[in-house]
Amino acid sequence: MTSLAILTPVPLTAPGQTWEVDAELREKLCLTNDGVLHVVDGYGGNHFVMAFVERLRRARFNHSTEYVKPEHLQALYRGYGGAVVGSRQGQQYVGNEASGGKQDDVVKILRSATEAGASDIHFFATPKGHQLSFRVHGELEPAASFAGRDGEAMLSTIYETMSESTGTNYRPGESQGGRLRSEFVTECGLFGARLETRPTLNGPWMAMRLLYDSGMILTLDQMGYLPTQIEALTRLVHRIDGMVLLTGTTGSGKSTSIQTLLSMLLESVNYTINLVTLEDPVEYRIKGANQTPKGPKEEWAEAIANLMRLDPDVALIGEMRDTASALAAFQAALTGHGLWSTLHVNSATASLQRLHDLGVEDSLAYDPSLVKGLVNQSLTRVLCKACKVPFERFKGPISADLKTRIQTHCIVEQVFMKGDGCSECNGRGVVGRTAIAEIIQPDLAFMRKFRDHGKAEAQAFWVNEQGGVTKNAHLLKRINEGMVDPSHGERDICALDEDVAIVGVRS
Ligand SMILES: [Zn+2]
Repeated sequence: MTSLAILTPVPLTAPGQTWEVDAELREKLCLTNDGVLHVVDGYGGNHFVMAFVERLRRARFNHSTEYVKPEHLQALYRGYGGAVVGSRQGQQYVGNEASGGKQDDVVKILRSATEAGASDIHFFATPKGHQLSFRVHGELEPAASFAGRDGEAMLSTIYETMSESTGTNYRPGESQGGRLRSEFVTECGLFGARLETRPTLNGPWMAMRLLYDSGMILTLDQMGYLPTQIEALTRLVHRIDGMVLLTGTTGSGKSTSIQTLLSMLLESVNYTINLVTLEDPVEYRIKGANQTPKGPKEEWAEAIANLMRLDPDVALIGEMRDTASALAAFQAALTGHGLWSTLHVNSATASLQRLHDLGVEDSLAYDPSLVKGLVNQSLTRVLCKACKVPFERFKGPISADLKTRIQTHCIVEQVFMKGDGCSECNGRGVVGRTAIAEIIQPDLAFMRKFRDHGKAEAQAFWVNEQGGVTKNAHLLKRINEGMVDPSHGERDICALDEDVAIVGVRS
């Protein structure tokens, strides 16, 4: 795109011009007559910005996009009556043209959320109205605001006309749950969208979890696992018997990993085994598996027992939530079935502790011929290669103690920090997330250590005697590769010196 001939481009989005937009939108973008759409950094995924881009597309207006600072936008509008007031990201309350209550607007929001790769959509109630935010790469970002009761009208449209509860009255004063009807989610490439509402002091709040129908299965390498970890996981996948626990907290990506691992398993045996699942509800597809949802009135233990009578070779039990379901799962593993399950814990060793707490007898929980693998994973943000900043030149705020930890535990000259954002990363500074994991394949010595001396001793034994790679070690490797900002790593995973504190090793 050449704009040499035009020294001072005319802002077409200024008042009275052909593409005039309202004052709020003029704080976020400016279209100039040289065909450049200037968007303030961080607003690339904004609902109203995207709606404007859609307008240009429909009109076949050829343009290129540049991401700029708010001051740049001010300069473009200067003299055109569109003076921009100081723009604070996400704090603007727009009197929007797409005010609540219309299904089309909700679909537009869903589209811009999925295009941004959001995992969740929130309509937060605030004293001034509703704030629409997307969770992208684990972080909340403001997308739009709805003044007055517009947001509330939108929530009632969603609940009463777009969810599976259609026909049920939306009651803003109560907590309600549901799922969006498939016609609204499939066109956005989603498998489903689960919604929950809850009254707050400022009015009703709605959260939507977006479930993606990826179709494409990520490889372990693409997910961020290390070569030695991929080797261990491949070994676990190829054993059809015994129990593997894939653990992590909410949003740790463990569902994606289970999907990949079980797909690998089915492929490796050319789909000649019966792999059954019990999930509440089914949230992703595994090609070749018999996936079953838990019935609304069914107890977990009862459902597991029923499933085991359906001639499975390998079973995935969504989650071991209580003593009865944990015991039923162990019963299945004892009878020679392969069993995969998840637990809500944040380290591999903590999963053994959790089995103990769930009331599984030590002779079962600490039997390495039954418990074959303890996998724990979390996700951390991946830096944009185009705008990341070397630690040594980083001028942003950083606490003195984090600085010391970086200097002590990292290879300083290889460390990078998040930059200001650019067109490559839509102004975010990060481009996605990567798995940080630890995998224990327990043997008798490890299990005895755990049984006789507890979690911390077993962890130290695994690291110091058995060469275990902890999440801390995995994280440091990614920081030293310049892939992860250490401050993100500390927030998403653990303190850089956690191993020193817990297992007494120097990383
Ligand atoms: Zn960037």
